[in-house]
Amino acid sequence: MKFPNIYEIATTSVVSIDINSTFAQAMEKMLANNHRNIVIVDINDFYILSIIDILNIQANSIDFNTPLRDLQLLKIPIIKKDKNILETLEYLNNSIEYICVVNDDHSLYGLVTHTDITTNIDPDTLMENYRLQDFLKLGRRMKWVRRDEKISTLIKDMIDNSYDNVVVVEDLKPIGIFTTKDIMRLMKNKTNLDVEIQEHMTTPVESVHKNASIKEALEFIKERHYKRVIVVDDNGSLSGIISQKELISLTYSKWSTLMKEYQAELHEINLMLQNKNIEYENIASTDSLTGLYNRHKFSQLYLSAYTSMVQRHNDMSLILLDIDHFKKVNDDFGHNVGDKALVQVSHALLKNLRNIDIVCRWGGEEFLILLPTVDLEHAMHIAQKIRQAIEILDIDIIGNATASFGIAQVIEGEEMKEVINRADKALYLAKDCGRNCVKSEIDI
Ligand code: GH3
Ligand code: MG
Ligand code: MG
Repeated sequence: MKFPNIYEIATTSVVSIDINSTFAQAMEKMLANNHRNIVIVDINDFYILSIIDILNIQANSIDFNTPLRDLQLLKIPIIKKDKNILETLEYLNNSIEYICVVNDDHSLYGLVTHTDITTNIDPDTLMENYRLQDFLKLGRRMKWVRRDEKISTLIKDMIDNSYDNVVVVEDLKPIGIFTTKDIMRLMKNKTNLDVEIQEHMTTPVESVHKNASIKEALEFIKERHYKRVIVVDDNGSLSGIISQKELISLTYSKWSTLMKEYQAELHEINLMLQNKNIEYENIASTDSLTGLYNRHKFSQLYLSAYTSMVQRHNDMSLILLDIDHFKKVNDDFGHNVGDKALVQVSHALLKNLRNIDIVCRWGGEEFLILLPTVDLEHAMHIAQKIRQAIEILDIDIIGNATASFGIAQVIEGEEMKEVINRADKALYLAKDCGRNCVKSEIDI
């Protein structure tokens, strides 16, 4: 769905008048142009004067030469012409029928009305399942009269109750409609208003069944350029009348509720996905027994550590360690006890290393430790420290265990497997030298 910009939909054929003009001048201009309303322009504000206001003012016997500035006028919201139609939505629920569209220099560009909005937002995106009868249940007021009602009496009633239109009914069936636009026409022609409404009502009237959806009703008024829809029941009797404005505000309040719910739902889904992602990433990057990084994750972390080593001209070393005679541990105490021992050793490793060191379970009882910013000599010390920590570890059921260590320093330009290879050779040497000791690539 495409939401157009305001300037694409605004009505530019607008009559406007300066606020310092008189009421008579405004009325004259409206009648001359056959417009239902006129925009009153002040320095920074815009007001609107509609035919209903004029009738009200007349009813209150206000002097025609009163300056517009002295009248109680309805100030209308302002929107810049390059804004999007969606930005008018907040005003629709505000029961303000017009929004003033201005140019960049704040001069009047045009008006946006509910008609503009209905005809420019694709009804398919609006409510398809919401029925007119659901809306009529909301207990709205509706004005209907018989065909012999006097227009003069009716006009007074319309002003008093702010009705914009009335439906003329016979035997409960709508037979005509009479709107403020008709009043304006009659005034312009100086018609005698002391006559029955049937003489001047618009006939015939087209109606929509109360089972119609909001979408259908909107399409109906869009095609015919109506401002309201007359709703009837199965017998063709009048059920109600709904203005375009009401259809739109209803639809949009429903739409915005849906959007909010949808957003909340999306937010939840996103959060869930994020958590799942973290979970999956953890599963994919760690060893399930010890919680240490696995080979795959180690390789990734090695690359970024290597890049940083090169960029910062740092050293970096690697420790490969393997628990001594672990096969015997399993044979003597069982695999489960062996597993627990591996976990305890892992904890001992983490306890004796920095946060930036990368500890990985490389294989069965083999661990690989990457030490950023550490040279070979320093790595030897760290390995000795770990070796001692393992040696004195009181492992459940087993008692003691030892490990052998091979150390190598990363050389710029080499691949990960090359440095691991050298560490592995040093580890073999440590095993050969009686185990529970540390050997480096220099010893090879
Ligand atoms: P050394 O390294 O000192 O030469 O002797 P070793 O017995 O440790 O050597 P080897 O590598 O031949 O055996 C490793 C044993 O570790 C084999 C296997 O029983 C055990 N092992 C490997 N992975 C696991 C594991 O996940 N859990 C347990 N409980 N044991 C494991
Ligand atoms: Mg081994
Ligand atoms: Mg071993």
